Amino acid sequence: MKSVFDQKTVAATLDTIKHRVPAYAELADKFRPLFVEQARLRGEFVAEEGALPPIDTARTNQGVPVLVDVDLSPWAGNMKRSAACLLPQLFDVLKPDEEAWRKLEAFLDDTDNIVGLAQARIEGNWKHFEDTSVQLGITPYTTLLYVAETVLSPVLRALVEGLGEPLSKLGWDEGYCPVCGATPSIAQLSPKEITELDQLVGGGGKKFLHCSLCGHDWRYKRNACPACGNDDNDSREVFYIDDVKFERIEACHKCGKYCLSIDMRECDPLPDLDAVQIGLIHLDIFAREHDLIPISPTIWNNLD
Ligand SMILES: [Zn+2]
Ligand SMILES: [Zn+2]
Repeated sequence: MKSVFDQKTVAATLDTIKHRVPAYAELADKFRPLFVEQARLRGEFVAEEGALPPIDTARTNQGVPVLVDVDLSPWAGNMKRSAACLLPQLFDVLKPDEEAWRKLEAFLDDTDNIVGLAQARIEGNWKHFEDTSVQLGITPYTTLLYVAETVLSPVLRALVEGLGEPLSKLGWDEGYCPVCGATPSIAQLSPKEITELDQLVGGGGKKFLHCSLCGHDWRYKRNACPACGNDDNDSREVFYIDDVKFERIEACHKCGKYCLSIDMRECDPLPDLDAVQIGLIHLDIFAREHDLIPISPTIWNNLD
């Protein structure tokens, strides 16, 4: 299933958030240039139709994501371009130490360095991020991780787009992404399906997880925790706030994690699934107050 992801959708999603919850206006405006530039870059990379990684179903059938152990150097050029375009926006969002930032810019302009970070992200090698963040003076290391994910994301999204249909045919039951191995940032119940004649053919409502890194959406069991696979109804709980039932927290008391979820059947127009999360921070706060941990910590739900 393809994600709706372009500059117009991002902008419209942020406008809707501002309109619905004026308290989020400042945050939506802060992240807007970054999100819009990411969408623009992804479109550019898709249009260029570069190299694609092979899909090895013998491996994916064993639960090994497509990009694990793949040499990422064919995409180093795009990663460096992405860094050059996104670092100014990231600087405005993060307000980091300027000297450290100059070092980071030079670091990311080097093929080996940027491929090394990409490889480390896909392998979940956090030690590499800790060491590099000390070396560059960008602390905590989660800031460097956020920078790397933001820069990598448009490159990987273009790969997902290029791989296309075959991805949706993979037999994949895992709670992590079949392409890059990252955890989901949000779940969705799929929108109503429309035919070319504008007639409804299906009610939608299938559960998909949305990858926090490459944006791929993959089908997942509706009644299971993506973090630990727990499908026992007694230890899983759904929360929503103020009767807004189409945006909710799916919590698992077995592993203590939660994933936000949005019912796309109730959304018209369909939001961008990344930008929409800016307008759901009250759910993250509620979850934290109930001692739950986000399945994919990011800059706005990591409230410690
Ligand atoms: Zn992914
Ligand atoms: Zn769980």
